[in-house]
Amino acid sequence: MYENSREQVAKFINAKESSEIIFTRGTTEAINLAAYSWGLNNLQKDDEVLISLIEHHSNIIPWEITAKLRGFKIKYASVTSEGILDLKDFENKINSKTKIVCLNHVSNVTGIANDIKQLSKFVHEHGAVLLVDGAQSVPHMKVDVQDINVDFLAFSGHKMLGPTGIGVLYVKKALLQKMVPYQGGGEMIKDVTFNSQSQQCTINWNEPPWKFEAGTPNIDGAVGMAAAIKYLEKIGMDNILAHEQSLTKYAVDKMKSLNKISLYGPTDSSKCGIIPFNITGLSSHDVALLCDSYGIAIRSGYHCAQPLHQMLQLQSSVRASFYLYNTTEEIDRFIEVLKELQTL
Ligand SMILES: *Cc1c(COP(=O)(O)O)cnc(C)c1O
Repeated sequence: MYENSREQVAKFINAKESSEIIFTRGTTEAINLAAYSWGLNNLQKDDEVLISLIEHHSNIIPWEITAKLRGFKIKYASVTSEGILDLKDFENKINSKTKIVCLNHVSNVTGIANDIKQLSKFVHEHGAVLLVDGAQSVPHMKVDVQDINVDFLAFSGHKMLGPTGIGVLYVKKALLQKMVPYQGGGEMIKDVTFNSQSQQCTINWNEPPWKFEAGTPNIDGAVGMAAAIKYLEKIGMDNILAHEQSLTKYAVDKMKSLNKISLYGPTDSSKCGIIPFNITGLSSHDVALLCDSYGIAIRSGYHCAQPLHQMLQLQSSVRASFYLYNTTEEIDRFIEVLKELQTL
């Protein structure tokens, strides 16, 4: 069942082979795996890693940690005043030293999607590889790793109706050969033989993907994630995206008519089901707490993307977000509550 789940994940993102699917604890562990297993073994002192300031902390910190271990340099592509990737700055910061570019597909703060297919062409023309944080795209839209041509793709089961503690790192086959395991133990080795002459162990790694899955895996998590994928596929990823986009448009149009609400970022059609905002005179945490008392769950704070908030000169923000189960009636209720909060 565990291996069948792997096959199902591979089909879901159109990976060529199921050996390109490594199960992890989630997006965070997936990016750490890429940073340690690929980064530490393929990046040298003068190399550069290009990240953007839109990233979730889990696409920043693993690179900051490994950069300190290996001495390579991290460059940060800036954002426009709307909080989207500044393409000019991005183009200025990529060069022949850039070995890997790490970008999110959809921002968990703004809901804006990067044009990964186009960026991927550009990155590959510069001889670098591309890691995409798909935590906010894979659950909400059809993602085809061959079509958008990414080298690494990370995502989490718990953001796509699956259980916690399971996620995936997709790795293009050619790159699997360039990775060295960073966790050792059972399952990831073929054999370990002790040579009494040299008093040393000789280790033969298992084949990928098992080479990168040390220890007893989260079997039930993987099976649960595959069940979630089956459910999402039955509804259809295009239908899910269309539903979320229509809810977002519905909510944005209503929120724009409220005078104390500031919305952040573009609100055009490139937007997925995420709306960042603030209410004048109220802290984001108060807004979230008050909404919670009406049974409306939204998030407040930095959303694990503190540099992006800094760039937008925001202390913090409130984030309303939608998935396939949300309805326009819920949005109507949400708007009623916002109207009440505006009077505080
Ligand atoms: C949630 C999220 C992550 C981290 O995912 P975990 O499941 O906590 O590992 C990374 N990036 C983005 C864009 C996210 O939304």
